[in-house]
Amino acid sequence: MFDALAERLEDAWKKLRGQDKISETNIKEALKEVRRALLEADVNLQVVKTFISEVEKQALGAEVISGVRPDQQFVKIVYDELVNVMGESNAPLAQADTPPTVILMAGLQGTGKTTATAKLALYLRKEKRSCLMVATDIYRPAAIDQLITLGQQIDVPVFELGKDVNPVEIAKQGVAKAREMGVDTVIIDTAGRLQIDPEMMAELAQIKATVQPHDTLLVVDAMTGQEAATLTRTFHEEIGITGAIVTKMDGDSRGGAALSVRCISGQPIKFIGVGEKVEALQPFYPDRMASRILN
Ligand code: GDP
Repeated sequence: MFDALAERLEDAWKKLRGQDKISETNIKEALKEVRRALLEADVNLQVVKTFISEVEKQALGAEVISGVRPDQQFVKIVYDELVNVMGESNAPLAQADTPPTVILMAGLQGTGKTTATAKLALYLRKEKRSCLMVATDIYRPAAIDQLITLGQQIDVPVFELGKDVNPVEIAKQGVAKAREMGVDTVIIDTAGRLQIDPEMMAELAQIKATVQPHDTLLVVDAMTGQEAATLTRTFHEEIGITGAIVTKMDGDSRGGAALSVRCISGQPIKFIGVGEKVEALQPFYPDRMASRILN
């Protein structure tokens, strides 16, 4: 299953073979290889350091189980720890006691936020939860139309007030509209910039304070690799997220961004995006992501 990691650990293993205990000296090379593998998978350096020291702690002095090669045991420790830190499987979306549940989407431009908004709406619709999507991105000319088109495609209504109304006001009225319509969930798509900028953060914080979302989801592009860490830290510190959606997992990234997002925010990854189509959304499974990162 982790052939790639096992292969690259080949030399390190030689040192482990024939030993009855995993020790600081015989594990050094192996840890170095794990570190390299994680960095190649684009996991943030700080996250890698924390992870490696945890694996070392667990591996050191671990009694070698008879019949199990220490190298195999070591791979298992690494894998289990990776699954463990990646958090829960299939973390559910928030559901308010009194509808509507408010979900706020956050993230940079181009990460797949608008697409993820529609993907989520479709997912919820399949769960028999009715939705309203709210278009507050008044800055990107095509964003509102994009959401309307997606809404038509999945048969979910879209609330918009054009591009001359303040996004905070649009969000507020959107939630009021959802209440009036009696829908179960309202998903607010927000504006993203190409880079984190203070104005965007302030606006997002204001929307959040106004609509008091039950879930604030950060949309992160898996292809951004190392950048995912900085992005997560900033969004989490400035607005506070309650979960994430990692998009573009159908690309060739190894998924290190997912580990960074989880470790830095401590919040669950709720879904992954696996394509451009509105159906291309999957629940997050830490074991699958761990295998992908290690391979
Ligand atoms: P936004 O600016 O964050 O709202 O991003 P969009 O939703 O407009 O998406 C930007 C581009 O990424 C579009 O071309 C989408 O079709 C594409 N996209 C979004 N999610 C995924 C995904 O999971 N996989 C792939 N391959 N493309 C995606």
